[in-house]
Order: sequence, then structure tokens, then C-alpha cells
Amino acid sequence: MTKILLTGGAGYIGSHTYLALIQSGFEVVILDNFSNSKSDVPRRLQDISGKMVYCFNGDVLDRTDLDNVFAAHKIDGVVHFAAKKAVSESVVKPLDYMHNNIGGLLNLLAAMDAADVRNIVFSSSATVYGDTDVQPIPEDHPRTYTSPYAFTKIAGEQILEQLPNTWVVGILRYFNPAGAHKSAMIGEDSEDIPNNLLPYIAKVAVGELAELVVFGDDYDTPDGTGVRDYIHVEDLADGHVLSLKSLLETGESHTVNLGTGEGSSVLDVVAAYSEACGKDLAHTIAPRRDGDVAVLTGLPEQAKARLGFEAKRSLGDMCKSSWAWVSGQRRNKR
Ligand code: NAD
Ligand code: UDP
Repeated sequence: MTKILLTGGAGYIGSHTYLALIQSGFEVVILDNFSNSKSDVPRRLQDISGKMVYCFNGDVLDRTDLDNVFAAHKIDGVVHFAAKKAVSESVVKPLDYMHNNIGGLLNLLAAMDAADVRNIVFSSSATVYGDTDVQPIPEDHPRTYTSPYAFTKIAGEQILEQLPNTWVVGILRYFNPAGAHKSAMIGEDSEDIPNNLLPYIAKVAVGELAELVVFGDDYDTPDGTGVRDYIHVEDLADGHVLSLKSLLETGESHTVNLGTGEGSSVLDVVAAYSEACGKDLAHTIAPRRDGDVAVLTGLPEQAKARLGFEAKRSLGDMCKSSWAWVSGQRRNKR
């Protein structure tokens, strides 16, 4: 059986990808330092899948941790999720972001090389496109960074592009991941006040935050609010399965957007979430947030052509699954 290592596999996207891989017949090993995930995620994954979860509490910055995983398991490929991901925090702590995200990737690649494992899928982001009027964005659009976080993703892509052709690399540029697993047992989980729209709205819906602050209604978009390409996290997870299958079966590298190609405004999301949770969600309009762009959507054709990937789930599905997850968590806390 093909065995895949997920670095950061206890996190939001990693945990959903874990389940999609198990469902597709892969064996999966997780390495996570739990810096941004809860310690009960492996147990939840076990409950959902009905299979024993192999999870190492370890750090991609620690070469011994990595060598131990490769010594204990015959790994065929790696999906590298482990990274810090908060854009605003990266502006305050750029060195932390470069150390963790770039240093972690370099350390992982060296450990993989030593273990003769040269298949890797890398979590990149639409942030590598910077601020552009070209919408939806094709993969050959020039890269530019607008934050230290974006810099680490561009650097990660460039490092991978320098590897010799004995390596097979899948670079996946995610647009805006949203929603939760159909089981409502895993999802995006943060105690902090979220920066991103969907987790913020979710906290308004459960009553943990009073209202959504809409950052700007004077953009050049149909309703004046920012437009993004939201993609269901379960679709994203399926994209990783297809990316890995493509790497392992064809031996060819790829760089693709993972999005839907469709844009939704902030007010579209508020309406869809209100419908999902059955109540009107309070929101006020405030000035634009620094660094935000009006529209960010990705051309999905390459993912379809190279991987056979197409997002299947709607914005309504994202909101309903998010609501099922957060309202269930809320009930458990009481
Ligand atoms: P997440 O924070 O939920 O998951 C990342 C996981 O990596 C966490 O469980 C964290 O504990 C772990 N981790 C971090 N540093 C580590 C280290 N040094 N060693 C071991 N484990 C470490 O984030 P996510 O939303 O699941 O994102 C996964 C990947 O996708 C990241 O690389 C992120 O940059 C990228 N990405 C995310 C989004 C998004 O909106 N969520 C969008 C584009 C790209
Ligand atoms: N947004 C908002 N209020 C919030 C968080 C986000 O109005 O509390 C808007 C933001 O301006 C953008 C969209 O929602 O237009 C998506 O923002 P998010 O931070 O989720 O993703 P990103 O900006 O990284 O694409």
C-alpha cells in the first residue's frame, strides 16, 4: 500500500486530507508539533475513519524527528502542510515565518533526500499572485509578494523548482478554503479572534462575537464588497489525493490553482451563512482592510486538465458544514 507522510496533518486542511487519503486506500502518517492544532485531532480522525492513526508529535525544524519518521515508516510521498499561515502575524514576526516555513521546508527536503523519498506536494497559496487585475488568475501569472507570509510561499515554490528532475513536485495554490468535514467532527478550530471571513462569521453565528465587520463596500465589485474564490475544504482534500496520484503515476511535476473559478462577495457569504444557520447575521460596514485586494479568483482549468480535479461543493455546502461543525462544538462546550 502507498504510504504518505502529512506534515501539519493535524491542522485544518491536513486533517481533511488525511481522511480523503484513507478513503482512497492510502496509508497515512502524520507529523505535527500541534502549535496550531488541538491534541484530540488524531483521536477524532480515528473515530471518523475507524482506523488506527499514526501520529508523531514532532517538528519539521527538528531533523531527528523527521529521520525517526522515515526510519519507522517506508514513506512513498509527502504532503507538506506544516507552516505558519497568519498574514498579519507574519508582518510582525517575519523571521519566525521565514524560519518555520522556509527552514522547515529545507529541513524536510534534506530528510526526504536522505530517505530516498522524492515525491512532494507543497501547500502554496493564491497569495503568490499579489494584487492583480487579471481575474481569474492563470498559473503563469507572475509571482509577487505583499507580506512575509507570501514571501515564504514564493520562496518555497522557488526552492522546489531548483530540485533536480529526480524529484517530482506538486505545487497546489489554494484559493480560500472554507467549510468542514461532513461528520462535523473536524473543522477549522481556533480560540483566537479569526482574521478570515468564514471562521469569523461562524463565531458571530454561534454568538461568540457580536457582529461581522465588513471591510469596505466601495470596491469595484457588483455589491462593493471584496470577492474571493471560496473552495470547500473537502474539495481541497480531494485535490491532494489527485495531485499525489498524478505524481506517483506519471512521475511528472505540476503547479495548479485549487479553486472553483467562481467569486463570492462578503455579502454573498453573509447571506449563505445566514441561510445555513437560520438567522440573520449582524454586520456593519467599516473601511477597507489594509492590504486587501478587490477580487481574487483562480482559473481552474489546469487542475482539471492535469489532475482531473473539479470542485463539486457550493458556497451553501461550505456554510452548512461550517455551521454543523461550530454549533456542535459549542454544544459540547456547554
Ligand atoms: P493549520 O495551521 O490549521 O495547519 C498547519 C499545521 O502545521 C498545524 O497543525 C500546526 O500545528 C502544524 N505546524 C506548524 N509548524 C510546524 C512545524 N514546524 N512542525 C510541525 N508541525 C507544524 O493551517 P491550514 O489552514 O491547514 O494550512 C495548511 C497549509 O496550507 C499551510 O502551509 C498554509 O500556509 C497553506 N494555506 C492555507 C490557506 C488557508 O486559508 N487555510 C490558504 C492557502 C494556503
Ligand atoms: N473580510 C471582512 N471581514 C472580516 C474578515 C474578512 O469583510 O472580518 C473580507 C475581506 O476584506 C475579504 C474577504 O472577506 O474581502 C475574505 O477575507 P479573508 O481574510 O477570509 O481572505 P483573504 O483576504 O486572505 O483572501
